[in-house]
Amino acid sequence: MDVVSFCSDLIRCKSVTPEDDGAIDYISKFLSSVGFKTQILTFKSKDGNNIIKNLFAEYGTSDKKSLGFIGHSDVVPAGEHWEEDPFAAVQKDGFLYGRGVADMKGGIAAFCCAAAQFVRHHFDGTIEFFVTGDEEVGSPEGMQSLLKWAIENNRIPNYCLIGEPSSDIQLGDRIYLGHRGSLNVVINSRGQQGHSAYPVNYKNSLINLCRYIVKISDYPWKYKDSRFPETNLEATMLFTSNYAPNIVPDWSSANLNIRFGDNYTIEKLKTIIEQEAEGFDNLSFAFLSSGEAYYCDNEFLKSKLSLAIKEIVGIEPSFSAAGGTSDGRFMVHNCNVIEFGLPDSTIHQKNERVKVEDLENLRMIYLSFLKKYFE
Ligand SMILES: [Zn+2]
Repeated sequence: MDVVSFCSDLIRCKSVTPEDDGAIDYISKFLSSVGFKTQILTFKSKDGNNIIKNLFAEYGTSDKKSLGFIGHSDVVPAGEHWEEDPFAAVQKDGFLYGRGVADMKGGIAAFCCAAAQFVRHHFDGTIEFFVTGDEEVGSPEGMQSLLKWAIENNRIPNYCLIGEPSSDIQLGDRIYLGHRGSLNVVINSRGQQGHSAYPVNYKNSLINLCRYIVKISDYPWKYKDSRFPETNLEATMLFTSNYAPNIVPDWSSANLNIRFGDNYTIEKLKTIIEQEAEGFDNLSFAFLSSGEAYYCDNEFLKSKLSLAIKEIVGIEPSFSAAGGTSDGRFMVHNCNVIEFGLPDSTIHQKNERVKVEDLENLRMIYLSFLKKYFE
């Protein structure tokens, strides 16, 4: 099976979270046809609404050294105004189009094809696949549940490669060693409704809220850290209960999103958010976290992967902790991780696409990495 056909077949599965549409079975069948032991693990959300299919696959000749590959087969919704059908895997002008081609069905296809070729020859160790079905919504029944299962069943590898899109302008120019954490904050402001011509009779919840937003965004978040981009707070949404221009709203609400380096933790951020609210009337907060910041600086992984990239595409990669977070934030507490894959410039956009030649080059980089890893 060549990598472009593999990737095209995966794109044709409309696996918009929480749907799977055959994606996990497809990968599982391929891996078992080349000798992997595969297990499909289905986890259900507490409310029973989401049932997520995940894949664990393993090819082992010894316990000496193991490598895990982390990927997700789910994709975000396609949205509108595509030049091509987002689930038809159309090739045009040297590009393969499709929702999820870069994020990250191309990475899965490339690693599957590389592993299939690699295991034909003897090697001393084990390769494991962790492919999940709900990464795009925070991984509750995907990586978080699969990881619990892997710990209980003694299936944590020595190191993990995450096949998410990490490259910037061209394939091979960037490796992710970590990501900033992310915290969403919902602020509710309560006041008292009134006629805007009678200022003594009301408390304006909106003015109260806006003053707080200005104060919290002026907080000195930023600090210099060579590893992470600066910590950043953005106000992202604003609502009020109002429905007429001469009524002062009794309730207003806003959302903040904070991206932070590992000098902060979610607990520390919550404390700051609440402390800065002292002196404001009736503000309350709800917090929704998608993970702490992490950074994994492992020389062995960095050197083997950099050598493989240089050998295939002739580029010296840079190391970064930019970009949105990945399932590495869960695995990093159990083993060393590194993240490398296709260019990310079109992910989550209309006309998501990758160069066809990048898919083949990524397959060769992964194959070279496997050889160097197990040598
Ligand atoms: Zn992804």
